[in-house]
Amino acid sequence: MNAAGTIVFNDVSKFYGEILGVNRVSLSIPPGITSLVGPNGSGKTTLMNLITGLLWPNDGSISVLGVSPRDAESLFRLVGYATQIDAFPRGARGRDFVVSYLRVHGYANDEAQRRADAALARLGLTEAGSRRIAGYSKGMRQRVKLAQAMAHDPRVLVLDEPLNGLDPLVRAEIIALLREWVDQGRHVIVSSHILHEVDLISDQVVLLNEGYVVAEGDIRGVRSEMRRHPLQVLIRCRQPGMLAARIFELDTVVEVKLHVDGGGLLVATRDPDRFYLSLNRIAVDHDLGLETVCPADDDVDAVYRYLIGGEEGS
Ligand code: ADP
Repeated sequence: MNAAGTIVFNDVSKFYGEILGVNRVSLSIPPGITSLVGPNGSGKTTLMNLITGLLWPNDGSISVLGVSPRDAESLFRLVGYATQIDAFPRGARGRDFVVSYLRVHGYANDEAQRRADAALARLGLTEAGSRRIAGYSKGMRQRVKLAQAMAHDPRVLVLDEPLNGLDPLVRAEIIALLREWVDQGRHVIVSSHILHEVDLISDQVVLLNEGYVVAEGDIRGVRSEMRRHPLQVLIRCRQPGMLAARIFELDTVVEVKLHVDGGGLLVATRDPDRFYLSLNRIAVDHDLGLETVCPADDDVDAVYRYLIGGEEGS
């Protein structure tokens, strides 16, 4: 594929003073959903900031569909970025948050309003757009950031931990939206430190460790490794005992334990997708008041060690 259709890193290094951000990264990222995966501090955000022109490399060169990230104006048209930062201007309303971003980047008021409304509708925030973000749930805050990143219809979407803290229904909606986005030949780059999530959504994976790319490519290797390590899910709800009885029977569930604080369950599953679907159904049917559903996984470290160790041949 030619440079006009790919994101290319050519021997790129970024240091923060003495501290290594990423080192000698060479990558060629085709369209589709690409996940940057690695433990905290491995360089995911640094790579995203380099793609989006917020940082410049100390060495090497980057091309985003043929454009240099130093060409800020061209890059803005190509790229949308939702950072991990969960802070918003004081008193901001969802719609203004999206409109003002478009205005800063040169859209006339009418066009900015029209685009903001379309993006908010796409993310299911039409009604919420007129309310203050301060009153939004975590899922709505994630979605309004996504609306802002998508509103100018960029060809590359860069999303730092976009599924973090979302309940399973919203996760599924956002994954479907990203899939639809790349089905039109575009790029989505997401970061995640949750390997099971990556398994679910990615076409390609770039595995990072301590600033180095340790593996890259399609995700078959990651996927087969995933199946050997059941995912631990922490579920908090009003009636953990009742929920335990219901989900114990599911064939997707390997183990169910009451959390030590008595307020939730730890469930091990080898098929998180099907498990989440069943969980939603049970929660609605029995009015169990689901509060939190999130991966709670120590085993992921073991998978990393395996993947990283395998790459080094140890
Ligand atoms: P990740 O997103 O995978 O958690 P980062 O890209 O944020 O990783 O960080 C990679 C490395 O760069 C870490 O060692 C981190 O401490 C360091 N780093 C990131 N940003 C800065 C900064 N602004 N100043 C100094 N060090 C930084």
